[in-house]
Amino acid sequence: MKMFWLIRLTLLVPGQTLVMSLPLRNPDLHTPPHAGSSEADQEFAKEYLQHFYGYQPKSEREKRNADTAGDADWDTGLCDKLQGMQRFFGLPPSGELTEETVAVMKRPRCGLSDVERFGNGIRWKRSTLSYRIAGSNLPKSASNVHKVIRAAWKLWSSVAAVKFRKRSRKEADIVISFYNGDHKDGAPFDGTGGILAHAFMPGAGIGGDVHFDADEDWSFNTTGFNLFAVAVHEFGHALGLPHSSDPGAIMYPVYNFAPTYDLQLSFRDVKDVQHLYGISPSFASLFSKKPPPRTPDKCDPDLSFDAVSELQQEVVFFKDRFMWRRHPHFDETGITLISSLWPDTVPPYLDAVYENVERNVIVFFKGNQHWVLRQLKLEEGYPRNISDLGFPSRIKSVDAALHFRIDRYTVFFTGHECWKYNEQQKMMEGSPTLMEKLWPGIPAPIDAAVFYEGFVHFFKGNTHYKYDSNFKRVVSTSPANDLLECKMDNNEILTEKR
Ligand SMILES: [Zn+2]
Ligand SMILES: [Zn+2]
Repeated sequence: MKMFWLIRLTLLVPGQTLVMSLPLRNPDLHTPPHAGSSEADQEFAKEYLQHFYGYQPKSEREKRNADTAGDADWDTGLCDKLQGMQRFFGLPPSGELTEETVAVMKRPRCGLSDVERFGNGIRWKRSTLSYRIAGSNLPKSASNVHKVIRAAWKLWSSVAAVKFRKRSRKEADIVISFYNGDHKDGAPFDGTGGILAHAFMPGAGIGGDVHFDADEDWSFNTTGFNLFAVAVHEFGHALGLPHSSDPGAIMYPVYNFAPTYDLQLSFRDVKDVQHLYGISPSFASLFSKKPPPRTPDKCDPDLSFDAVSELQQEVVFFKDRFMWRRHPHFDETGITLISSLWPDTVPPYLDAVYENVERNVIVFFKGNQHWVLRQLKLEEGYPRNISDLGFPSRIKSVDAALHFRIDRYTVFFTGHECWKYNEQQKMMEGSPTLMEKLWPGIPAPIDAAVFYEGFVHFFKGNTHYKYDSNFKRVVSTSPANDLLECKMDNNEILTEKR
């Protein structure tokens, strides 16, 4: 089956990237869409959208025709593809090349497209497949590479009715190789970072083969790129799985291996591979006690949050490794990984988050540590202990943080106590107050709090308390997820609010 192979060739005709010089512009928005993004970033973005989102730049001839029509620098196709990419990654689909959009584009990732569908049911017809590890160019010790590859196949065979056999010499269904740069399959590797690997759909010849970029710093631990994590993802392609926009799935296209997180197939990966190959006979006994992890669902009536914060004009809801972002201009609230916005800095399973607009920083809390980030980057000297803020040593963590922009102070919640922190003088004001005194009607301890549109919003378990601080009373209670517009799916095409 060569379908995917052909698609990639058409996407990667040499020279195509050179003709893209049109600035990005969204006709619906009056601000310059690429404000702050450099020309190099715009070029990079166009290449990215061409490679991963099927953007086809205008030919020289089309551009000349557009010139005479007075439409020289506008390309709707490009804006649509950019919005498609933003939706895929749970970013606000503004069609603007924002700093964070560029940051997500620059994350190391798989070389396959995010939008080419593999076609339903493309799979191997046999239930036992052979693989071979091509001997040349192996990173580090060959025996470790072999061990990691075997473990990666085992993850898939433990859930789906398919087995893998290693072959040393003879032809195999799936050939695994490490290549530098152009390796004559129409999809050259790009040196360190960027594209880490790619794979081919099940089929004869090159079908099912897996290529790793030999220029990467491959590792078996947390330094460089973890070979096991990338192999599990690429083997999913070799079995016939496309990319998933579920950020908890192994088939999510961006590299997000974290040493704190036990790498495993998600519920979505398991369902998808079982749909192609059936259920492994050992699945029930292996997973009865600990089923594959599900990505939190914004429509789950029992959904609770770790933290909720304003972030510029958005409200962001943090849960486990994930976050949802509610933007005032868009109905949809996409889910994304915390690490896709703040890679290698902000930990998962946060306790509290707030934004200090005046200082232009975001502060994250987990356990007795806090992190301060400016412009997506960690400030020097962080993380630091929360005692630096003036907490006594008996306080081991913070439940929630509530920032008041106009009055320039932040309230921290710890169990039944609240602490008022003066942001100008950078110190705690007086001793803590009991929650029932300051916020009567709110049950302590709380999970999260945010000041938004004139009200304080408290979250505890699956309940959202809307609070009027002037009258010191709860205005309404509702399900915790009521601000997440759960009627809509992350992947649906949605309309912008006018
Ligand atoms: Zn991939
Ligand atoms: Zn290749």
